[in-house]
Amino acid sequence: MENKNLTEPLLSKWIATGVVGGSDYKIVKRNKDCMIIEKFTGKTYTYHAMNFITREYQYLFHKKQPIQDTMDILLDKKLSVLDFYGRHFPKSGEEMVRFIFEIVFTNYGYGIRKEQIQLSLHMYQMMTTGNISLSDVPVGLGKTHAYLVAAIVQRLYSGIEIHRETPVIITTSSIELQRAIVKDYLPEISQMLLQFGIIDKPITSVIRKGKDNYLCDFRLRDYIKNIDPKKKKLEELIILRQVESLNEIDLDELKGISQYDKKRICVNYNSCQVCLQKNICRYQQFMKRAKQSSINFQVCNHNYYLADVLRRKRNLSALLPNHKIVVIDEAHKLIDAARQMYGASISQRNLYNLANKAIPKKLNTTKARQFKETAEEVIKDSNKLFAELVTNIPEHINRDETEKFETILTSKSRVYLSRIISYLQDLIRFDHGEDNKYLSDLKRCIKELRVFQDWGIIYWMEQPFLKGQGVLASIPIALSKVLGEDLWSTDDSKLLTSGTLAVHKDFSYIKKELGMQVAFENRIHQVTKESPFDHKENCLLYIPENLPYPSYIDKQYLIEIGNKIEALVKASNGHALVLFTSYKPLKIVFEHLKPRLKAYELVQMKRGKKDSVNEFKKAKNGVYFATGSAWEGMDIPGDALSHLIVVKLPFPIPDPISEYERTMYASMDDYINAVVVPQMLIKLKQGIGRLIRKETDTGVISILDARATKGAKYHEAVLQALPDYTVVDSTLEIEQFLREKKKKEYFE
Ligand code: SF4
Repeated sequence: MENKNLTEPLLSKWIATGVVGGSDYKIVKRNKDCMIIEKFTGKTYTYHAMNFITREYQYLFHKKQPIQDTMDILLDKKLSVLDFYGRHFPKSGEEMVRFIFEIVFTNYGYGIRKEQIQLSLHMYQMMTTGNISLSDVPVGLGKTHAYLVAAIVQRLYSGIEIHRETPVIITTSSIELQRAIVKDYLPEISQMLLQFGIIDKPITSVIRKGKDNYLCDFRLRDYIKNIDPKKKKLEELIILRQVESLNEIDLDELKGISQYDKKRICVNYNSCQVCLQKNICRYQQFMKRAKQSSINFQVCNHNYYLADVLRRKRNLSALLPNHKIVVIDEAHKLIDAARQMYGASISQRNLYNLANKAIPKKLNTTKARQFKETAEEVIKDSNKLFAELVTNIPEHINRDETEKFETILTSKSRVYLSRIISYLQDLIRFDHGEDNKYLSDLKRCIKELRVFQDWGIIYWMEQPFLKGQGVLASIPIALSKVLGEDLWSTDDSKLLTSGTLAVHKDFSYIKKELGMQVAFENRIHQVTKESPFDHKENCLLYIPENLPYPSYIDKQYLIEIGNKIEALVKASNGHALVLFTSYKPLKIVFEHLKPRLKAYELVQMKRGKKDSVNEFKKAKNGVYFATGSAWEGMDIPGDALSHLIVVKLPFPIPDPISEYERTMYASMDDYINAVVVPQMLIKLKQGIGRLIRKETDTGVISILDARATKGAKYHEAVLQALPDYTVVDSTLEIEQFLREKKKKEYFE
């Protein structure tokens, strides 16, 4: 649904009935399906009641003076005796869900989507019965409105007090969606429901984040006080000073502050414990308000939600207020968040920083010298540990494609690990004054290191070839079992939704990953929805014959595929996103095509360069060579993206996690069918979902992988996983299709 103008549509409807003319009317009361309108005739104020569904109306009374707020009860009484009062007002939660979509939203110009209403009704039912829902909902159906309406209605109608009085938790993967829910969706729905008298107070919500995302008043003042003006840009200093008096303390919302500065002014909880400003600082005030259960919606990311789950499990104070309903949007990302939150990691840089920070400036005492020696031992052993881990990375691993590098914790590495732990423990014993943060960092690091002494983990290395930046990471072997116990064995209602949860309407893959077999099968309810867009009419799927078999290490293959891309880009006059599965072939093909596609604005995605997508958005007939996050994080409605070219089917890259998972299956084929193919199809759906973002979008999808061509192994699986497109195999048809669908300017 799009944003609509929220001026008084009911009032204009009233006027449109012709019962009263003119424009100086005011709605003074709404109750159920009726409202009272005040009109000043020049001498007196007249009051009419009207049922805004049936348009029945009745004169009530007139007065010399306008009525006051104190007459509210009297007005309610006047309405309640009318024949047409409340006749069409929803009596049950289900009726209210329908009422909101069919009557309220349509009053503000929204269309009715039966599928969306059914989804919302399903979600409402799951919330009221304390069940678990898995819903696969394509872009454009309006799942956010569906669950927000369901949640609001369950609060209004629930017979269970705790459901009415505890907040609903919404967790998402992206901050953009969290912002949209709190700043756009909920305020708009709130205003509409208030105008209809469905709620009597605005809906409240808050975004919850980790403490280091917020500003600490004490650290800010201290930082500004100690800044050397000669070493700081004047404009940066001005912004920091301005921040002191703003209402905003969310660092993501404070523009113009560098990451460097943010690290120095963010909340550091250890300082809070001894802070004298505890009762008055803006962060503590914010937290007090945010934790109130009177706030209807608590919105956070998956990591924050899982941190809350883990804290409750360990009997630590919870981050979120008690709740009975959790909506997990973008739920396909929950497993990644779980791997981070339940996993452990140690980085070479972190060990270096911890040790380096411990080295005293003055070495005039024996203790200080010992301190220095211990810290240096940490650095030495850490370097040896990471060097050993790099040595143990098998030769065959494709360095360009993988992010998780298999390695072996040999007995030698384990000796280094033990020594580092013991040296860090020695560092704890030294006097650190009041630096509580340093002490807690040391303790946390020891805790993470100890995880790697355990055998019940899957571990790997990240960034092994970036000097001094190596990371050793792990997850528990039994992660899905643990998740099952922590997330699904409670009686809370949980709603997982996303555009890519199911494969061929089957949720087995995600259920297994998230350990959902623990939840009683009868508690899990599954829903898949068809896309509301007319893909057959608005989209072509191009899968040519005679493609070379994909091999990124084969130069000839890359040249052939590059030539294919060249022809496709010309057929759609640019406006294309070329999706690769890794950076190296992307770079080779980009370089190959640069001199041949001079008529187009070519944009290359590079590691760490975040704004390349904006260059593409601004380009007139751009071609964006991308990989990684472009498979799922891009939203470019309109003509800028009209051709999506998938170079290779996005099969998962083998890594230590998948290697372990493979051992859980009787045969390689079983594993491929149960895990590898579903993962590939989910990612393919995510990638292809970049193209049609709105009802009016039109475009072409080209798949250049020989394994997807007619008669090849994955042809049918690919077609079944995607919406019903018209399939073609010639570039001429692409050109013809786009000439039919696009305006003349598109080809200029
Ligand atoms: S209580 Fe914590 S957040 Fe607030 S000013 Fe003190 S240290 Fe900063």
